[in-house]
Amino acid sequence: MQDNQKSTPEIYSSIDEYPEYLGNDLGLDYNQRFSTFKLWSPSASKVKLSFYDKAIYSEPIAIHYMDYSGEGVWEKKVEGDQSGKYYSFSVLHQGKWLMEVPDPYAKAVGTNGLRAQVVDLDKTNPANWSSDKRPALAAPTDIIIYELHMRDLSLHPAAGIKNKGKFLALTENGTKNNEDLSTGIDHLKDLGITHLHLLPSYDFNSVDESKLDSAQFNWGYDPQNYNVPEGSYATDPSDGATRIREFKQMVQALHKAGIRVVMDVVYNHTGATETSIFNQLVPDYYYRKNDNGSFSNASGCGNETSSDRPMTRKMIIESVKYWATEYRVDGFRFDLMGIHDIETMNSVAAALHQIDPTIFVYGEGWTAGDSPLPESDRATKINVPKLKNVAAFSDDLRDGLKGSVFNHREQGFVSGKIGNEESIKFGIVASTQHPQLDYKAVNYSNAPWAPQPHQCINYVSCHDNHTLFDRLKISNPNASDKQIERMHSLAQTIVLTSQGVSFLHAGTEFLRTKSGEENSYKSPDAINQLDWNRKTKYKKNVQYIADLIAMRKAHPAFRMGTTELIAKHLSFNSQCSEQLIAYEIDGAAVGDRWKKIFVVLNGSDQTKKVNFPHGRWKYAANGEVVFKNPKALGGSFGVPAQRPAIFYQD
Ligand code: CA
Repeated sequence: MQDNQKSTPEIYSSIDEYPEYLGNDLGLDYNQRFSTFKLWSPSASKVKLSFYDKAIYSEPIAIHYMDYSGEGVWEKKVEGDQSGKYYSFSVLHQGKWLMEVPDPYAKAVGTNGLRAQVVDLDKTNPANWSSDKRPALAAPTDIIIYELHMRDLSLHPAAGIKNKGKFLALTENGTKNNEDLSTGIDHLKDLGITHLHLLPSYDFNSVDESKLDSAQFNWGYDPQNYNVPEGSYATDPSDGATRIREFKQMVQALHKAGIRVVMDVVYNHTGATETSIFNQLVPDYYYRKNDNGSFSNASGCGNETSSDRPMTRKMIIESVKYWATEYRVDGFRFDLMGIHDIETMNSVAAALHQIDPTIFVYGEGWTAGDSPLPESDRATKINVPKLKNVAAFSDDLRDGLKGSVFNHREQGFVSGKIGNEESIKFGIVASTQHPQLDYKAVNYSNAPWAPQPHQCINYVSCHDNHTLFDRLKISNPNASDKQIERMHSLAQTIVLTSQGVSFLHAGTEFLRTKSGEENSYKSPDAINQLDWNRKTKYKKNVQYIADLIAMRKAHPAFRMGTTELIAKHLSFNSQCSEQLIAYEIDGAAVGDRWKKIFVVLNGSDQTKKVNFPHGRWKYAANGEVVFKNPKALGGSFGVPAQRPAIFYQD
């Protein structure tokens, strides 16, 4: 079975000398007559390719030694139809055989992602896949994102969903809670969101796919195989084709419901460090290190990847391109994007926009720890001006609304804190340049960081930290339930009426609670799952959020396309004062049938009187209801405590 090597790689004195491979064919090239495997490992002196007939716990059925073909690449062509077989690589490194691991470019793996699998991708397409289309998207500021963990949607008994915790849960139509209200994908459709952002759904480490009957939960921020769907979300983790087909069925169902799909991608670190796939194949190359030789840890998870090295960057770019084409994923949310270098993020966005210019890229513009990467090269929030078609989360608005995530008792604009007004206005203009903003008074940023509004993701809560409901309870221990509901609704109203891109945490429309738990990354389903009975309890708020979303979609004035338009047509009113924000939008100037819009946000616990700017106004929304046939009002108006008031002239 052993083949003779054609040639051997050079000995390199440092990682920086490793040759870059420019081809786009690393991994497996499959057809029914033969399979070709290519692995980049310039540090290996021999490479072994082992075949198996089982996903785990079995002896190899064949072992091949790969041939060195130059540029750091090892190659092997295996005759015959190999589909269904599992395989792994191991490299001889400095005289020692390292662990057997899957192909880093593997498109299919078996149980627990321990072995790659040969799969005929053409056979993984669901029926009518060829007619699947991305839902229409005219402009990036039209985007309304809903952030969801796969299990949370379906685990609660009141979800009425059969495929609990599976990709297929999102393909079930007609599901209802105990009071006959829609759940699952129907609920998302009723709500009107444009993008569903799925927490990690690539293959991660922390859930044992061989023990799916036992209680397990994890967010999945511990990547193992970047190009394969997670096994615990498939009905059969041992079969690569099943994972792929069911993920595609989910995308197809969401697209049919008019919803685009966003993957949460975590290329910034891997779950394992020394034993990771990358370190077993090309030791140290894919990671940054400290001067003392230890792995640097900007992820806070034990390592950080080296996106600034060409073959790491290539791996990331090839991976997102693959998800965008094979699975028709419509957007990517980069975890701890600040660990990546600016050039990588710009290359990612450019490569995706070549496939489809409506694919949306955004990320967390920060790191979790320090990095050897110079600050000026990091894709952080402050460096968004150097990023093209990449957006970042606004922690300015998030914490301005409810208080710092690092100080649980701190209040924010919606819960009565004085002095947060400028941070809220900063969110309203999507962190862009606006002539009326006093940037020195903004909580975290002393200058606009979004060159264009679509580069700012406005939000108040997400999977991290407390849910908005829990946070408001903790920071306002003496507030009544009614007051908490008012604060909650005021925060959501501000997110959904601000310029930029709106982002909602799943279940926030029915005031999601995790029973006060701050970090539920491995908490039981009982803490994490969406309690669909709350949809009944907070039915009125769910309707209000759906109506606000509909209002945002119907009125371009709330989602202007450029910084210049916002600066020109959105003006803060002279009645702005402590705990009170008032602004007008010239709707007519941006093609809105509401010729003028007047928004008042009262963060105080007192009714505040405002004078209408000019003429008579119709009452559009009040924090509880979006009115259908409002009467015209004039003169002055008392905006109730912790309430928004939105008016228009048509
Ligand atoms: Ca897994």
